[in-house]
This record gives sequence, structure tokens and C-alpha cells, in this order.
Amino acid sequence: MKKFADVILPLPLPRCFTYSLPEEWADEVQIGCRVVVPFGRKKYYTAIVRNVHYFKPEEYEVKDVSTLLDARPILLPEQFKFWEWLADYYLCAQGDVYKAALPSGLKLESETMVEYNPDFESEVRLPEKEQKVLDLLSAEPEQCVTKLEKDSGIKNILSVIKSLLDKEAIFVKEELRRTYRPKTETRVRLVEEVRNEKRLQELFDELARAPKQLDLLMKYIELSGILGGDGLKSFPKEVTKKELLLRAAASPAVFNGLVDKHVFEVYQQEVGRLNAIVRDTLPVNPLNEHQQLAHDGIVQSFQSKNVCLLHGVTSSGKTEIYIHLIEETIRQGKQVLYLLPEIALTTQITERLQRVFGDRLGIYHSKFPDAERVEIWQKQLTEKGYDIILGVRSSVFLPFRNLGLVIVDEEHENTYKQQDPAPRYHARNAAIVLAAMYGAKTLLGTATPSIETWYNASSGKYGLVELKERYKEIQLPEIIPVDIQELHRKKRMNGPFSPLLLQYIRETLEQKEQVILFQNRRGFAPMIECRTCGWVPKCKNCDVSLTFHKGLNQLTCHYCGYTYQLPRMCPACEGTDLRNRGFGTEKIEDDIKILFPEASVARMDLDTTRTRSAYERIIADFEQGKTDILIGTQMVSKGLDFDHVSVVGILNADTMLNYPDFRSYERAFQLMAQVSGRAGRKNKRGRVILQTKSIDHPIIAQVIHNDFEQMVAGQLAERQLFHYPPYYRLVYVYLKNRNEQLLDLMAHTMSSKLRTVFGNRVLGPDKPPVARIQTLFIRKIVVKIEYNAPMARARELLVQVQKEMVMEDRFKSLIVYYDVDPM
Ligand code: ADP
Ligand code: ZN
Ligand code: ZN
Repeated sequence: MKKFADVILPLPLPRCFTYSLPEEWADEVQIGCRVVVPFGRKKYYTAIVRNVHYFKPEEYEVKDVSTLLDARPILLPEQFKFWEWLADYYLCAQGDVYKAALPSGLKLESETMVEYNPDFESEVRLPEKEQKVLDLLSAEPEQCVTKLEKDSGIKNILSVIKSLLDKEAIFVKEELRRTYRPKTETRVRLVEEVRNEKRLQELFDELARAPKQLDLLMKYIELSGILGGDGLKSFPKEVTKKELLLRAAASPAVFNGLVDKHVFEVYQQEVGRLNAIVRDTLPVNPLNEHQQLAHDGIVQSFQSKNVCLLHGVTSSGKTEIYIHLIEETIRQGKQVLYLLPEIALTTQITERLQRVFGDRLGIYHSKFPDAERVEIWQKQLTEKGYDIILGVRSSVFLPFRNLGLVIVDEEHENTYKQQDPAPRYHARNAAIVLAAMYGAKTLLGTATPSIETWYNASSGKYGLVELKERYKEIQLPEIIPVDIQELHRKKRMNGPFSPLLLQYIRETLEQKEQVILFQNRRGFAPMIECRTCGWVPKCKNCDVSLTFHKGLNQLTCHYCGYTYQLPRMCPACEGTDLRNRGFGTEKIEDDIKILFPEASVARMDLDTTRTRSAYERIIADFEQGKTDILIGTQMVSKGLDFDHVSVVGILNADTMLNYPDFRSYERAFQLMAQVSGRAGRKNKRGRVILQTKSIDHPIIAQVIHNDFEQMVAGQLAERQLFHYPPYYRLVYVYLKNRNEQLLDLMAHTMSSKLRTVFGNRVLGPDKPPVARIQTLFIRKIVVKIEYNAPMARARELLVQVQKEMVMEDRFKSLIVYYDVDPM
């Protein structure tokens, strides 16, 4: 009997498509295998088999599957369940999830660009078709699959491409790959012949006449710990050349002397990478008493709850607690997923975990080459998968055979939410669902919980464990507010700097300590401000600052869509100097360099950190004291642990407070608390200068007193009053069309249809600040649904309305998509 396969295509289609299976290999096709299928005109895609059956679809003509790519499934049953949940909850297609989930190398299609690998050498003769493709590519090293197909005349070329990819003869072309350079370090070790005690003793005598070389050798022995315990260790600690020279205060000449004498040899080691060889691991650090209590509290809470929040102040040693929990989980033979926001996944954390877990740890980063991500994916399908995956948002899509624990560090980070394209998922929430599917537990960790999480934890839905002591009792910094409005008026500001901040920077530099200056990126959101009194126009319905649209010369509320005329005069002080405001990090850098010409200054923002290595270099330079002043956006607040920062300057709190978003106070608090947490040293309390024009704003007082709970209490009251999360779930409905007038009609029609279903839970339509993207105009409708209302039903109704819309002929060209739980 003829067999059929339902497949998921990497396209935003509402359902699976059915293809027939050629008899020769129909029986080899399993659910979760990839197949190549034709779709549309002359296009081929890699699709995933969702189901195999004997029912021929009636509605359309069934085409044959072209090729089977896998002998074994590359997707586990739990993953299908997870995809289904995502598509359902976030109102998108499974094809959208598929596209987000798999690394490019696993989802070839006609449009895929491939690249020749000049280093490839085959040990055996390649099959004729593969050689043909390779020859074409060596002549023109970057080509699209369709072109290769045409030029080679090979049918079913995707399977040939796949085979070449498996051999690493070619790569899937990526923009990122070019910028990625694995970070290597020069490390030092004793040459083989010297690695015994007898020879070392002789050396000590021989080098008596070269005391500098002897010193250097002794330093190496100390740093590597090679002589520890009984006899020479076969796996001493690795020592970098840089550190050795620094710690021994030796010159490269002295070092080279020892290399010439065949005592030392150098080798290159990649750091923070998948394949970094970790030969020796260290035992986990013992927890201190507070950490132990927190640890036990978490274990206890997992007895009755699936999710637990660890609310621990900055530098309380949350990571050490995670390490203990990870160790216990893998000892039971289960796997751990450790999620970090993209920007926080640095060498710092990688090395800390690698030191303990060695090669049981895999790292999944979007800025790693695709081939490497494919490798991890394949490895996780086998019995020999990594026990621990440390990764960013997209690692929730990796296959896990036996997940036992998920850790979501910095759970409050809004970068866990994918904005574009679909699926617009929140990795924290998705991870909780994923964990539940495996019967695993989820630990959320942060110093500044999101209001949603806090609400869930304090209402008893999640467990809650608090850790209020910093490790080694380093004090939390002193936060000093500075009223820059007053200073502006008295003309005592020096550009964006108050006299007090400048004084502290000067003192810090004199003491050879470091400074972080923080400027909120969102300061660039165009807003109008009265230069005289600091007044900022707000929406009368929503109490959020209005966004200034230069082109239209009007003010809009980001929320309700209401628009206002630009006032001629400030209603508060009658001043007429209303200006577009915001200053960037670049300007601050210029100013600082003029004020402190002798200091070395670095800037960390989106511009300076396009590549992973650039980002890590800025951090490493700062860590090693090569930089005195680090200026940055939110990036500088991301869970980094520096030892010599005694002053943090928050240049302008108001840009955060006035951002037009119901989460702006929450975020302002989180950001300021996080960035403040970077200040402080072992024996000295750090200082934070908090510059603001809204010195009486309650959030400012709450930041100063680190009063998280009061902040939350205030925010929860407002959220309840104005119908926002966690009391209401938001769904943004976006409509797109090429024709603006038609779109307005569509948006109004759709919103009134929605109103008949959802009543006054519907707001808008509104014109979003970016109201046209790629020739498509955009409108937005907001739907607010009570948190405990049946969401499945609500989603059904939404989709129903969408169907009704596109069924009307005049609205056929309407594009609709959703953002569920927008951030
Ligand atoms: P958090 O993640 O809570 O901000 P970290 O885990 O980064 O804090 O810890 C801050 C610093 O204290 C790190 O340098 C870490 O190595 C050190 N530390 C914390 N707990 C311990 C411990 N139990 N043993 C040794 N060092 C610790
Ligand atoms: Zn004014
Ligand atoms: Zn409004």
C-alpha cells in the first residue's frame, strides 16, 4: 500500500503538507527524519516528517518526497510536543518554529547559499556528483543551491549538498562566520623531558647563575601547581604566557631564554569553545552558610513545585549554587540546560563552568559558526550528548534525552524574548514549559526579578528562595543621588557630568581604580523635553511619555495610539525651549577623553560589539585593568564580575523613567540595581552616582534603598488598575499591507470584529512608531485578556476573526501576525 508522510515545511503555513513516499525507501522513513520536498514553483525545501500513514489527501494533488536525508530522526518526540506548544501559544506556524529551532546546516533549501571550503582534502575519491558540485564551487566559491542545480544538471541536489556538508567540504554561508575568530591564548608548559622531579632539581641548580630565569621557572611552578601533593602532577593548571610574565614581572627576553634552553614550550589554546580540551577539572567550591541554606531551600521547594525563583543580590554567589545543583543533577544521570541572555554568555562564565565540568559542558551560542551548532545538535541526539548545555535563548530547541534541570539566569532580562521574526517566544517561559514536558525542574535566578516572576513566586505558584548576603560580605554600594536639574539651572553641569561625578572619577583614577559610566540605550527614543524645567509630555490615558515623530511633527502614545499636537510652550513653566533630547555613548566618550586625557577609555555598545570577540576583548581589557573608564549601555550591567570598580556613574536616570512603556519603571529599577551591583571591591564599599532630574521620583528612592519589594508593590497596584501583566495577558495583533488606506480600513474592521468578541479588552488600532517596514504599512491592535481567562479559547477566537477577515475578497492581501506577551 502507498505510504504518505505529513511534513513540516520551513514556511509560515497553517498546517502540515502531505507527500507520497517512493516505495524503494518508504519503510525507512521515520517520524523526525528530514526529507527534501518540492514546494511551490521549482523550489525544494528540507522538511521534517511529522507523521507516516496510508491516507491519501483528497483536496490536492500529492507530490513525491524527493529524498530522505536521515536514517534516524533528528527530532525527539518531546521536541514535537514543544514545537506544537510554541506554535499554539505564540500564535504562529510550526514552520516558523522549525526555522528558529534548527541551525541552517540542518535545513537546506533551494535558496541556501553554500560556500567552498578551501582546506578540504578528501582521503577517498568523492562520488561523481559530489565532485561535480565541488568543482563548480571551487571555480566560484559562493553559490546558491538553485544555481548549482542548474549548472550541474543534477536532480535532487540537496542530498548531494548535505553529503558535502557532512564531510565539511562545503559550508552553509553565514554572515557571522567571517567575523568570528576563535579566541586563542598562548599558554606555557614544561617540555616533556623536564617534566620529572629529578630533572627539575638539576635545573634549579643550573639556573642559580641565571636568577631571573630561575624566578620565572619558580613562578610557573607556583601558578601551575605542578609540584603539589606527591610528585609531579600530570595535569597541572594551565598557565598563560601573559599571566606568567605579569606575575613574575619578567621580560619576554627572560622567557625566551628558557624556551631556548628547552625548559618551556608554548602552545595555543582556544578558549571558551566547544572543543577546548579540558583535561583536568577542579572540585566544586564549598558553599558558605547562606548559600547552603539557599541551596537547601531550592531542593526543598522542588519537592512540591516545578519552578523556583532564587532572588539573590548581586555577587551573592548564585552561580556557585547553580554549580552545586548541576553537579547533583548530572550525578543522577540527568541533563541540565543553563540559559543565559546572549550578551551575558561570556568567557568568564564559560571558564567557571568548564573548570568544574570539563568536557561534559557544551556551549550553544548564536555567534558560533553554524557547523559547530549542527555538531552539538547531532551530539545531543546520541547517548554521548553533553550533560550540560550552557546556551542562549535558542538552546531551548536542542534535543535533550533526559532533561532534569533548567536554570534561567538573569531571568528578568527582556532579551529572552524574541522580537522578530516569529516565533515571538519568551525563552524563560518556554523553558519552564519544556522542563515540565520532561518532568524536570526550573530554577530562575536574578538579583532583580521581573514583576511577573515575582508575582508567581510570592503568590505561591513558584517556590521562592532569598539570598541577601553578598559572598564574603562585600557591602552593597552607596548610591548617591544628584539632582542635575538644579545643576543645569545653575549652569554647573559639565556636559552630561555633575561636579560630584567628575570629582569621584578623578579620585578613582588617582587611586588606580576603575569607573563604569552607564547611559541607557533607550535614551535615543525620540522624546521632547523642556530644557528649562525638565517637563516631558505624557499620554493622558496611559501615563507614559509620548514619542516624538519628527516627520509628522507630532507626539504619539506608544500604547493606546493617541496622537497629540506638539505644544509651543511648556505647560509647567511656560518655557519655550522644548527640545528633542537624548545623548549617546559616543558623545560621552568624546567628552570624557577631553576631561581626562590621560585615562584609557573604552566604549561598549551595539556599535563597538558587533562581533563576539570585540565584546570579549572590551571585557577582558577592563578586567585586566588596561581600561580605566568603561562607558556603556545596558551591556555593562550584564552579570559581569569585576574586581576594581569603585565608582559607577548613572548619567541620566530619566531616559529610563520616561520611556513610553508600562514596564519602564520596572526596567529602570532593574537596570540601575544591576549596574550599581558592579561597584564595590573586596575591602571597600563602592559608590554609585545616580544623576537625575526627577530626584523625587519614587523609583529613585527605591533604587537608593535597594527596596525591591516596595517597587514591586507600587508597580503591581498600577498594573492591576490599568490592566497590565501579570493581571492581564497582552496580545498585540499586527496588520500589514502595502496600501495604507486599505490597511486602515482593514484595521478598523478587524478591531470592531474583535470588539464584538472581546469587548473593551480591545484597544486601537494604533499606528506603531515604526509604521512602515519594507514597503508594508503596519497597524497594531492591543488585546488585554484577564490572566485566568481560558487562553486556548481566546486564541481560537483571535484566529477565527483573522479567518473571517481574509475570507473577504477585498481583504485577501492582509497579513496578520501576533505578539503574545510582548516585551
Ligand atoms: P552572582 O551570580 O550572585 O552575582 P557570583 O556567583 O558571580 O555571584 O559570585 C561572585 C564572586 O564570588 C565570584 O567571583 C565567585 O567566584 C565568588 N564566590 C561566590 N561563592 C563562592 C564560594 N562558595 N566559594 C568560592 N568563591 C565564591
Ligand atoms: Zn518647563
Ligand atoms: Zn496612551
